[in-house]
Amino acid sequence: MALIVQKFGGTSVGTVERIEQVAEKVKKFREAGDDIVVVVSAMSGETNRLIGLAKQIMDQPIPRELDVMVSTGEQVTIALLSMALIKRGVPAVSYTGNQVRILTDSSHTKARILSIDDANIRADLKAGRVVVVAGFQGVDEHGNITTLGRGGSDTTGVALAAALKADECQIYTDVDGVYTTDPRVVPQAQRLDKITFEEMLEMASLGSKVLQIRSVEFAGKYNVPLRVLHSFQEGPGTLITLDEEESMEQPIISGIAFNRDEAKLTIRGVPDTPGVAFKILGPISAANIEVDMIVQNVSHDNTTDFTFTVHRNDYQAALEILKQTAASIGAREATGDTNIAKVSIVGVGMRSHAGVASRMFEALAKESINIQMISTSEIKVSVVIEEKYLELAVRALHTAFELDAPARQGE
Ligand code: ASP
Ligand code: MG
Repeated sequence: MALIVQKFGGTSVGTVERIEQVAEKVKKFREAGDDIVVVVSAMSGETNRLIGLAKQIMDQPIPRELDVMVSTGEQVTIALLSMALIKRGVPAVSYTGNQVRILTDSSHTKARILSIDDANIRADLKAGRVVVVAGFQGVDEHGNITTLGRGGSDTTGVALAAALKADECQIYTDVDGVYTTDPRVVPQAQRLDKITFEEMLEMASLGSKVLQIRSVEFAGKYNVPLRVLHSFQEGPGTLITLDEEESMEQPIISGIAFNRDEAKLTIRGVPDTPGVAFKILGPISAANIEVDMIVQNVSHDNTTDFTFTVHRNDYQAALEILKQTAASIGAREATGDTNIAKVSIVGVGMRSHAGVASRMFEALAKESINIQMISTSEIKVSVVIEEKYLELAVRALHTAFELDAPARQGE
């Protein structure tokens, strides 16, 4: 008998019919003898609808009040799912974050979980009940309702699994697993049977939207086996774990991530003196703008060029700051470009293989795609290219690293 935490996302509980289907599924697991804790999101579109209401009152809704409101989305689904279970003869009970006592800090709309009181849940499980918990929400030490950031139900699921030392945390969603890349861009993309936490974290932060980044961090930290599965199709899904396989079978690259979320800024003709990087990036970080990739050129005439990327939402603000910096340090000019995309190859197999980066560059060169910036870590290589070549680049890399699914017979 296992203890399983099952999290169902917004599309999986998007209608009453779907909630009934979820109840059927949970019932099957329960009848097989497993202890089940279910975490649900709000019905799809509901969180956005609620935020929309608040924005009709004020552009920047007051965070505390916003949390009071958006947490109702999940409160509706826990009650509906519990009813659907009880109707089927499965004893069940719903809990809000406050009722469990999922204690968080007080950062409204992006709170972090501090502790989870598992006493009620354990007692219910012992009494044979399925426990249905509202995702995305908690309570701070003063009793204020908090929420965990968009997509936060994943984090609730993983945190509960960690607190209860569950055997597995299953994330049910509208895809049947984690893919080598976005199948909409590469039809030959394949579902991965397994991926490591580290790789998943890179994939998630580089643009893959299957799991909330924080939930993957959490799962890695507490070593919670995590599985991504389709809500309404049978299949093994993708297991996310700690262990790296030692076998020869281990692919060098597990996946290709990409995003169009960044913009590039360049400052030219900067006097090349100590402290210059700080003078350029200091004011950017003082404005709370996160910098991702950075390149500084070595120059010959005692000046240098400096290029970095920021999130597109921060582009205008960053460019204004950079122009002021250029004037104050006597640089020639500050310019920007939003016409870029970032493509990354990710794989723990890189650690034990040389030449992975050059294989990437070769594949891009063959397609005459110019690389504007490069950054590497132990398990990833990222490049910035012109946005219009993004899909071509992803396809070329998917083929070059032998990730394409074998063609089925007759195709
Ligand atoms: N309902 C919340 C959202 O839409 C949390 C979640 O779905 O995970 O962001
Ligand atoms: Mg969601």
